[in-house]
Amino acid sequence: MRIGIIICDRYRTCGGGKCLRSMRERAGAFDRYPKDEPLELVGYSTCDGCPGGNIEYVPEEMIKNGAQAIHLATGMVVGYPPCPHLTYFKTFIEERYGVPVVVGTHPIPEKYRRVHQGLDSLPVLEAAPSLMATAEIRRTYD
Ligand code: SF4
Repeated sequence: MRIGIIICDRYRTCGGGKCLRSMRERAGAFDRYPKDEPLELVGYSTCDGCPGGNIEYVPEEMIKNGAQAIHLATGMVVGYPPCPHLTYFKTFIEERYGVPVVVGTHPIPEKYRRVHQGLDSLPVLEAAPSLMATAEIRRTYD
């Protein structure tokens, strides 16, 4: 399986450690892929900043390089606030490029879940059960 990852530009300096680790562990949104089959990252980029102009273009390069699915990184879900364009991005890429889009990459760190607990953004987290994982797993991603 080959995938591309698009991250929120607010976190453009991120080294990608949690995403790459969770790919290896098949944790979070990667729990859908069998552990005994190779999972290859063929593209990694940002949305290029609000309102996400790169969403229009960067999937093409990822797909040319073999991407069979595109993941919108967990940072779009757990940012403060979560990306307001998440649903639009998913629908646009799937309609325009015909590849499945998965919301999320690594499990939600417990420290982020705790803050969202008191915010209106909690339903965005709760809509992604594979990212919520378990409390034990969330703590390992703090
Ligand atoms: S909030 Fe959304 S549109 Fe804005 S920088 Fe982050 S991912 Fe891009």
